Amino acid sequence: MIPFNKPHLTGKEAHYMYQAVFAGKLSGNGDFTKKCQAFFEQRYGIKKALLTTSGTDALEMCAMLCNLKPGDEVIVPSYTFVSTALAFLREGANVVFADSMDMNPNMDVDKLEALITSHTKVIVPVHYAGVACDMDKIMALADKYHLLVVEDAAQALDAYYKGCPLGTIGHLGAISFHETKNVTAGGEGGLLLVNDERFIRRAEIIWEKGTNRAEFFRGEVNKYGWVDMGSSFLPAEINAAFLWAQLENLEDIQAKRTKLWNTYYERLKPLADKGCFQLPDMPDYATNNAHMFYLVFSDFEKRTAFIQYMKEHDILTVFHYLPLHSSAYYADKHDGRKLPQCDRYADCLVRLPMYYDLSITEVDIICKTIEKYLVKEK
Ligand SMILES: *Cc1c(COP(=O)(O)O)cnc(C)c1O
Repeated sequence: MIPFNKPHLTGKEAHYMYQAVFAGKLSGNGDFTKKCQAFFEQRYGIKKALLTTSGTDALEMCAMLCNLKPGDEVIVPSYTFVSTALAFLREGANVVFADSMDMNPNMDVDKLEALITSHTKVIVPVHYAGVACDMDKIMALADKYHLLVVEDAAQALDAYYKGCPLGTIGHLGAISFHETKNVTAGGEGGLLLVNDERFIRRAEIIWEKGTNRAEFFRGEVNKYGWVDMGSSFLPAEINAAFLWAQLENLEDIQAKRTKLWNTYYERLKPLADKGCFQLPDMPDYATNNAHMFYLVFSDFEKRTAFIQYMKEHDILTVFHYLPLHSSAYYADKHDGRKLPQCDRYADCLVRLPMYYDLSITEVDIICKTIEKYLVKEK
């Protein structure tokens, strides 16, 4: 059976975790945490990156930093993981769901302005499959209406928009190191990117349970106290140690995934040209971090039959999000607008196996099986 995902080990994870354990400081914000944070601050040219226990936690920190009041509105796509909306709902905001585009599942930026009201405070673009949303247009709207932009870059590690790393363009950004993402912190982990320097001090405080410990450890204050709200968002050192082993091999990881992605694309493009399915579309302004490879069928029945056929041939392919706007918890929080593109991706999109240890031979087997399925269907 070819699985859908398999976490990759670079080889040094256990070694660095061993080092962390015997360094005698197990809690957060130790040497490995600082190394990982400095890695991103240097690579992305930003002042503050903070490791978190998950991408969800990084989004929750973003939501807290936005300082929302009940009745404030936050625009999120409906076709996304629940944390994109949940983080803001927990802060008392109302979520307003945006539909996806025709060309890819990202929010339709050209229809965004119509969703902005006098209560709107934040726009949360999700870079689906690591493919950039059109950030210039989003930032221009944010400027015009004095809104904050929080990038859900959970899937977008090391993907770029016009040369800028995703997660560093909005005021705040969140990346995930869950085991299903390109790089993992040992199963769960995340990163908050603080791009607007106004948020740095408060981000450090919220990260450490509402204390000003970070300032205390830097010797900037002579005792630390309880100064704000917050939670325990920092991961333990063994998670940071695991992540460090992966970051040291980031180029290799991305290169291998890109090779797999390109092989899929070259093999399946002729079938897409014949109208069998839609392939991921890369806008000119986006780079590809090869997070995911997906097909979009013309209807739900075709996708269901495809998943079944592939499973019978020992290949696991999976559909993705159910629309948030019609889900059990969010339906009564939605204003009732129809979101047809979101529904289409929910019904018709299927993801193919994509992980570092997948071989080109296996990609070949998967593509051959897809070809056989399409012949049978005719
Ligand atoms: C994975 C993911 C998250 C959540 O990240 P976790 O680290 O699993 O908490 C949020 N948003 C999107 C779009 C994701 O893909």
